[in-house]
Amino acid sequence: MLSVFDIFKIGIGPSSSHTVGPMRIARRFLEEAKAAGVLDRAARVRVDLHGSLALTGVGHGTDKASVLGLLGFEPDRTDPDKAEKAFETARAQKRLALHGGPEIDFDPKADMELLGNVVPTVHPNEMRLTLYAGNGADIFSQVYYSVGGGFIASEKQLAAPAQDDLIAVAREGRHQFASATELLAIAREKNLSIHEIILENEDDHRPRAETEAMLDGVWFAMRDCIERGLATRGELPGGLKVKRRAPSLYAKLQEAPLANEREQLFDWLNVYAMAVNEENAAGGRVVTAPTNGAAGIIPSVLKHYCCVDGENLAQIRVFLLTAAGIGMLYKQRASISGAEMGCQGEVGVACSMAAGGLAAVWGARPEQVEHAAEIGMEHNLGLTCDPVGGLVQIPCIERNAIGAVKAVNAARLALRASDEHKVSLDQVIETMRQTGIDMSRKYKETSEGGLAVNVVEC
Ligand code: SF4
Repeated sequence: MLSVFDIFKIGIGPSSSHTVGPMRIARRFLEEAKAAGVLDRAARVRVDLHGSLALTGVGHGTDKASVLGLLGFEPDRTDPDKAEKAFETARAQKRLALHGGPEIDFDPKADMELLGNVVPTVHPNEMRLTLYAGNGADIFSQVYYSVGGGFIASEKQLAAPAQDDLIAVAREGRHQFASATELLAIAREKNLSIHEIILENEDDHRPRAETEAMLDGVWFAMRDCIERGLATRGELPGGLKVKRRAPSLYAKLQEAPLANEREQLFDWLNVYAMAVNEENAAGGRVVTAPTNGAAGIIPSVLKHYCCVDGENLAQIRVFLLTAAGIGMLYKQRASISGAEMGCQGEVGVACSMAAGGLAAVWGARPEQVEHAAEIGMEHNLGLTCDPVGGLVQIPCIERNAIGAVKAVNAARLALRASDEHKVSLDQVIETMRQTGIDMSRKYKETSEGGLAVNVVEC
């Protein structure tokens, strides 16, 4: 059963599938090696990155994340500055203190290979790790997948998922549902809103007060990320020479906070979304929402609409719970991985979640929330992933700004509509899934097509 805190996880940028996932995989690999009783004999470790993890791995920081995972770093507890130092030290000294194990020689050039020509069959984000003993014998080897949003799975888990796992969003909780239709049926039958259903399912995990504190913690991490992004100037790393734009736009907006309100709505949404995604591109601390690449949309809409006269934590909780319920449907019925679905699975899903969350805050009935989420995805269908230079910068940063504006519009359209709507959320999720399957591999986080090949790097 998925939890709200599987959808919203604190991590570091720039990518949940290419940074957070590989870091978790490397750490998990060593823990499994320790459990198997072989870690102490390790004298060498080898990391092979395949498919999308290799093709956009350098720009997405996959190489660094893998090393950090081997050192024992965890995405939700990592201080980006400390991580950078640890990575640089390991690289300079060519030594690695394996998490829970011995210190060994490690040369990233020789011990890590990015094999973009290997096209994985199970999932496009494949990672093989191998431990060798001092005599060169292979003592432990595993294949894992980073399946989007920081979620990871072993080869075994992905190769033979139980049929139920594919579709069950909540099969163990108090309220069990596997589709938006079933979620709405529960809401009608029990006279509950979507956020109440999701919250009651969380009650099965921990006391209510703890869940509320954790939800507030998610918001505080989002808010801190916005604030850092608004205050940090300069150029983003990676060689594209992209300048951070959020601080100067924010300064302009503060000079005349209420001027030209008609247009300025977009400016505020834009500046908050870009602040988060510029932080993400710089490897800062962000909340996956539901991925890092799309991490700016939900915080932007929350900040603009739920922090009008100070932070309204009650509204923020309603928003996050509703958005998470929608995100769970995408995660279980399709995918939130750009490497599988293109950007529709990242920015499209975040837009859909934000639209539903905002509609709920505005007092929408569950059917209207479902409609808002449906509109939020319908107009992102087919959105490709083609990051220039393999970096999560162009088009990603602006795309979050556009996604935030689109989410607000989706919520408004749903609230103004009559009860009848032709396309259901379940239908649009299935359409996204089929479109993702049909989409050329060039447009699924490989940087082999689209903007990535038409924009010259300089
Ligand atoms: S284009 Fe979209 S899916 Fe691809 S890296 Fe950027 S935000 Fe993520």
